[in-house]
Amino acid sequence: EAYLSAIERANPVLNAYVTVTADKARDMAKASDAKLALGEGGALEGIPLGIKDLFATEGVHTQACSHVLDGFKPRYESTVTANLWADGAVMLGKLNMDEFAMGSSNETSYYGPVINPWRRSRLDTVVMPTTHQGDGGFVSAGGAKTARTLDNAQLVPGGSSGGSASAVAAFLCAGATATDTGGSIRQPAAFTGTVGIKPTYGRCSRWGVVAFASSLDQAGPIARDVRDAAILLKSMASSDPKDTTSVDRPVPDYEAVIGKPIRGMKVGIPKEYRVDGMPEDIEALWQKGIAWLKDAGADIVDISLPHTKYALPAYYIVAPAEASSNLARYDGVRYGLRVPGKDIVDMYEKTRAAGFGREVKRRIMIGTYVLSAGYYDAYYLQAQKVRTLIKRDFENVFAAGVDVILTPATPSAAFGVADEDMASDPVKMYLNDIFTVTVNMAGLPGISVPAGLDGKGLPLGLQLIGRPFDEETLFQTAHVIE
Ligand code: GLN
Repeated sequence: EAYLSAIERANPVLNAYVTVTADKARDMAKASDAKLALGEGGALEGIPLGIKDLFATEGVHTQACSHVLDGFKPRYESTVTANLWADGAVMLGKLNMDEFAMGSSNETSYYGPVINPWRRSRLDTVVMPTTHQGDGGFVSAGGAKTARTLDNAQLVPGGSSGGSASAVAAFLCAGATATDTGGSIRQPAAFTGTVGIKPTYGRCSRWGVVAFASSLDQAGPIARDVRDAAILLKSMASSDPKDTTSVDRPVPDYEAVIGKPIRGMKVGIPKEYRVDGMPEDIEALWQKGIAWLKDAGADIVDISLPHTKYALPAYYIVAPAEASSNLARYDGVRYGLRVPGKDIVDMYEKTRAAGFGREVKRRIMIGTYVLSAGYYDAYYLQAQKVRTLIKRDFENVFAAGVDVILTPATPSAAFGVADEDMASDPVKMYLNDIFTVTVNMAGLPGISVPAGLDGKGLPLGLQLIGRPFDEETLFQTAHVIE
């Protein structure tokens, strides 16, 4: 009830939830109470969670925050959410996100932008998210686009899991599911002072998660601290016959490593992440992180990941290519929106023209271009080769004994809603992913952990990157930083 009333008060401003499942939440909570009264119950019994709108939830509107999926209520449950419910978690509702998870600011949603609970005061200082009070109304949960006013104190929560990050930061759920194709868990976590982990590709089942770029997509949690993230990932992860890319290996007890010393651990600092024009605040944060780990007894070593600079351009070929193929299924026949036309082709065209937003159309056009005959070798094949080189860079470093890599999570703190620079140039928006995409290209686990504030008092995150299936080292090291 506390979370539901917090949502009611704060959501008109934050726009973090697109669907609130209050009745379902109460029913699930009652069932949990009954279990707990008998001394039974799972690892998450009664814990209220928010679910990114990308996860299929049986009988509950699932739209990937796209107009094209209007009214879609799946008849099945994603494996990740089914795992959470099996452990006793309670569903509060579905969380806003960039349309089809394409974006870095949560401004491409059909339901309008999500607002970061951290805000600039008009004097350009920062107000921490400690209350649930709103001061003005715009989008209502589940309501389509309604008139809204933006004030210049408002910041984006990052994307695409902006609803998840904003809801966790504002106490609108105890934890949330999210997904990360190029940074969509870690970047919003960094922008909101929360913890987000993208596990190794294959750790969580992608079954029932609306596909964006299937070779990069992974589910993971956003939580208030490292321990909560560890507990949530333990429940979310599983091998699943319904997703052949999920991996059949036991899920460790991640929580057990928290508090274990990191003495003697080898931490790599990649020189290629010192990018041109990196703000002083970010460099200072990185140095602080290095000092903390050194103080805790870690061995700090300089490393090189020479193909890093090609990761972002290669990602923005591979991800749109896969997206253009995955999104071909939204044709007005099988799901959601249908705009009638004079014949079937006309119906397809009208449905897709009306159903997809600008950014999604841009990705489909890039994707079909790089996959088309004549360009395939020059772009798509080349990007796949670059991807292998990026993966090898990491393999070499880990083979040389490095246990974990430390980098900044993002090149800046949260920026303003409707930022003119970002809005006018999509490449500027894509640059937000510069530190996060390499991890997806290589299929590795990465965590973002809050590590301090910038000069204006906004949260910043550090990223730790680990060996495949070594999420434990990430939790262990992140706990030293938080
Ligand atoms: N910002 C990146 C993109 O728009 C990553 C998105 C994601 O991780 N889902 O593609």
